Amino acid sequence: MVKETFISKQAIEEMLALSGPDALDLREKASRVRDDCVGRKVYFRGLIEFSNLCANDCFYCGIRKSNRKTERYTMTYDEIMDCARFCQEAGYASVVLQSGERRDPDFIRFVIKVVSGIKAELPEMRITLSVGEQDREVFRRFYEAGIERYLLRIESSSRRHYQRLHPEVMSFERRRKCLEVLRSIGFQVGSGVMIGSPFQTLGDLAGDLLFMKAMDIDMVGMGPYVPHRDNLLKNWNYDAEKTLELSLNMVAALRIMMPDINIAATSALQALDGSGREKALSAGANVIMPNATPLKYRQSYSLYDNRPCVTDSPYGCRSCIMKKIEESGFLPATGEKGDSPRFLKRVENNINVCNC
Ligand code: SAH
Repeated sequence: MVKETFISKQAIEEMLALSGPDALDLREKASRVRDDCVGRKVYFRGLIEFSNLCANDCFYCGIRKSNRKTERYTMTYDEIMDCARFCQEAGYASVVLQSGERRDPDFIRFVIKVVSGIKAELPEMRITLSVGEQDREVFRRFYEAGIERYLLRIESSSRRHYQRLHPEVMSFERRRKCLEVLRSIGFQVGSGVMIGSPFQTLGDLAGDLLFMKAMDIDMVGMGPYVPHRDNLLKNWNYDAEKTLELSLNMVAALRIMMPDINIAATSALQALDGSGREKALSAGANVIMPNATPLKYRQSYSLYDNRPCVTDSPYGCRSCIMKKIEESGFLPATGEKGDSPRFLKRVENNINVCNC
């Protein structure tokens, strides 16, 4: 069993700054940690991007509410159910329902209806929800409806940096508090950040990894920042190659710091490099989120430019990703739920007390 050791902020920054052969060594080390601790299985989360309506105005995001150029959609109940059925057939034992952030009662009711429908027809399917910040009461209703996992990226764990990426009405503290509430209710909690985003320093990124550890996060999806043509941060000097390298170093450093969590090889990596996700697996990741959104909506879920797979059907994505995983020497864990080992240990030890 791999022991978890404390790594100082400075040592993390040094890892993140590595490049060339030194960076490859770091990733190999992290890959060995992953092999020893969670094995070489890759777990699947079928990603259903069910709506791009959003009430927020994050400066970097293509679906922010004031971007008038984005064509808005919300999938129907039946369309979402079809996607969930596809995921079941494809061997994805888990789905991620993701959308822009909305807090109105109609939206909450719709999400609960969809989740109840999936649970009634596909009771074994694990559901992760990713619909942003909500009130404690709403999170609790989601949990009671059968949602086991919740994904809420903190985006940046530095208050200063967070505020530079978001309008004033958005609060770092409120988002952080949501993660605590999710944990107290009993969710398997996922978070993450964008890597290489404007104004971000290596110190911020090292702080992000320490944040994941301090919050004892169960699953992490960190992806590179990729500019969107209509974003509000256009003058940022963006270096795609460096951002890719940094993203892979982040995955590796996190695996070394938290050996037993689930780490996603995120789709945004593929926007920078056709083999970006496989490289992340080789740097310690163990989860892939194949896109299960119907083709006609993919183009409109435009978080950033060059989104991969916008012309592939869910079937196309499945066969492509299975082939790539096997060619890279990993084992596709079809039909397996792949709960975060860290979460399972916490539940076994009964630390997950609901105090809400
Ligand atoms: N509304 C949900 C999630 C929807 S967006 C929520 O608030 O959690 C999903 C993720 O896309 C965001 O968390 C953000 O990290 C990422 N994202 C948005 N714009 C991006 C960009 N330009 N480059 C890379 N990732 C981006």
